[in-house]
Amino acid sequence: MAAEIKPGPGLNDRFNTPKKPVLLSKLEGVNDDVNAAVIIPGEDAIITVCDDRTVRVWLWRESGQYWPSVCHYMPSAASALHFCKQSRRLFVGQESGQISEFLVAEDRNRISHSKDYQAHTARVTSVLLSDRCQWLLSVGRDKMFKLHCAQSGLCLGSFVSEAWCTAVAFDSLAKVIFVGDYGGQITMLKIDEAAAQSSIGNSGGVVSGIIRYVTNLKGHTGSIRALTWDSNGQFLYSGSFDQQVIAWDIGGQCGTAYELNGHQNKITSICYAPSRRILISGGEDSVVVFWDMRESRLETPQWADSDTCQRCERPFFWNLRAMMDQRQLGLRQHHCRSCGRAVCDRCSSPRHAIPSMGFEFDVRVCEPCYAQLKASENPSLAVFHEAKHSIVAMDVDESRKRLLTVGQDHIVKLWDISAVLQ
Ligand SMILES: [Zn+2]
Ligand SMILES: [Zn+2]
Repeated sequence: MAAEIKPGPGLNDRFNTPKKPVLLSKLEGVNDDVNAAVIIPGEDAIITVCDDRTVRVWLWRESGQYWPSVCHYMPSAASALHFCKQSRRLFVGQESGQISEFLVAEDRNRISHSKDYQAHTARVTSVLLSDRCQWLLSVGRDKMFKLHCAQSGLCLGSFVSEAWCTAVAFDSLAKVIFVGDYGGQITMLKIDEAAAQSSIGNSGGVVSGIIRYVTNLKGHTGSIRALTWDSNGQFLYSGSFDQQVIAWDIGGQCGTAYELNGHQNKITSICYAPSRRILISGGEDSVVVFWDMRESRLETPQWADSDTCQRCERPFFWNLRAMMDQRQLGLRQHHCRSCGRAVCDRCSSPRHAIPSMGFEFDVRVCEPCYAQLKASENPSLAVFHEAKHSIVAMDVDESRKRLLTVGQDHIVKLWDISAVLQ
């Protein structure tokens, strides 16, 4: 008899929601990794960059499918892209480290090359234009962040990280840069334009040019894969291989950070819909999570340190004296996710979701916390959607309520997310 696999009841319920994204189209026919894709906002057009060195512009055809109107070959694999709707400038990062700039024609049937930036010496992992400041920001596997003037093409400054740089975000008002790396660090940098005259060209040290080091944001335990800046709320959102999204309240200036746990594998991509304040995360679990950021959440508690269980007072295994005195074997230490107390396994056997702390799945809680959680309502503060492919990149067009997911299967899916963005 064939084995039957039944998903756990709790997990299945999560996908039973009236707020379902609807699959509009699939872009197929690429035989290599698609590294990034964007929707041209407000238009039926999508741009992709791939390991097969192509930059493709896909247009919606009357046949009912997206079809490439442009297929341009780069000198090396195309690894990252940024498109600016206002100026129609397209920036393509490559495996070689170079970034090339194109102009996308209004009819989207042509892209014309305008300049190259010799930005990196290894694969470009993320590229971003600040239209307001006319700065091009990029990161790469040469462990560098680079800042270029998007008019002159000159390099204005750089920062050297300890690991591959994987993601970048920019606060164009405060002129603050966030650089994520493979080691799980997020480095906060500031652009000091007063230093522009004196230090351009002066390299040496970790930062150079007009870049100043501010601080590190510590929280993730795995490679940072995505960073997004919310300029209205002054929040930085980071997604990591540690399966966690962290919402950093930068504007609040109190060091507050909220953890969002809703994925069961590495997070590879996040994007943000600012008008409805929906944060969207996707990952290798093939799931897209829509986090309602209008809801207020609580920080997770600090984990307590104790030599004995803070409920039954039995000793933990390193507490040799108490073990001898009480003639007991030492126990493993666990922590209640709700109150943070150090407890033994027996005193923390229940599991419960705590959406108000970002725990959308059941997590370990102590008996008293469990009783409290059971007695109160804990509605989910997120919408879960099965994208049915392991996600490597995403983009959202809030104006037309569309989401794009790029899969490891080389397929790009376009979703209508009106139901979620109501
Ligand atoms: Zn105990
Ligand atoms: Zn507790």
